Amino acid sequence: MENSEKGYKDKLVRGLLFWGTVNMTAISARDLVEEARKAHSLSHVTTAALGRILMQTAMMSAQLKNSSDNLTVIFDGDGKAGRFVAVGKEGGRVKGYADFPEVELPLKENGKLDVSGAVGTDGELRVIRDLSLKEPYVGRCAITDGEIANDFANYFMKSEQQPSLVYLGVRVDPKTGEVRAASGLLLQPMPFCLESDIELLEKRTGEITRLTRMIEEGNSLEDALGIILDGFDPEFSEEITPAFSCDCSRKKIESALVSLGRDELKDIIEKDGRAELVCRFCQKKYEFGLDELKELLAFAENAGEENDIEE
Ligand SMILES: [Zn+2]
Repeated sequence: MENSEKGYKDKLVRGLLFWGTVNMTAISARDLVEEARKAHSLSHVTTAALGRILMQTAMMSAQLKNSSDNLTVIFDGDGKAGRFVAVGKEGGRVKGYADFPEVELPLKENGKLDVSGAVGTDGELRVIRDLSLKEPYVGRCAITDGEIANDFANYFMKSEQQPSLVYLGVRVDPKTGEVRAASGLLLQPMPFCLESDIELLEKRTGEITRLTRMIEEGNSLEDALGIILDGFDPEFSEEITPAFSCDCSRKKIESALVSLGRDELKDIIEKDGRAELVCRFCQKKYEFGLDELKELLAFAENAGEENDIEE
């Protein structure tokens, strides 16, 4: 039975561990990853890869304060599925895509999906924080592992000098490709956290990797965390509902068409007489007929004239 059928909806929780010395963010996101899989017809391996990236992006975006803030994560690696891009907004809303979502790879020797084969083990991980009124901040680090969680831990250490424990797991049905469970955990000790507590946490790494399986077996996120982090005093203070959600609209696509310029638009009108644009992030189709294109052309011509005057 699926978690959603049991009443366990996707959720993202934030809180503290070790009597307030470790920041904790956790996510259970079966439905979110399944939405992404359906939108992009993801293969098994790209479901796992994009699912992990989307969950981490949601956990990082949960800290955003304004509706105009966004956080973009780009895995620009040498893997078979090309680039992976995810964008997060406040409230745990994320969207994302893979360059080659259909790429499937043989399972690894240990029976697991070959995520690093899809993502690559060489390349760059970029995190762009675009916060209101400030220049976007771009953090970078080399991709070395390609299994995503370690790459993020590496990123936090190298780019933000923040030690972090990152766990991300997506369980995919081997036959249907459907997402059975997906979860993630981000633990970040504060500067005054005791070294001995960090060591205790590190010893739990094996337990932490059971999180997604435990959720698949019917535990709620909080119950599973309570078991895994037993003795570490986990305290939950905030809960939101993450979602795979795209903010594309006909208006945005129209502006994109106008920004192509007069010549390009005339070309489309003469050659095709219509246009179909697909949103990269959610695969939604936007169709434009001849009359609409002519209107946009008129708009582009007016805009062009205004520019001419300014020049
Ligand atoms: Zn979209």
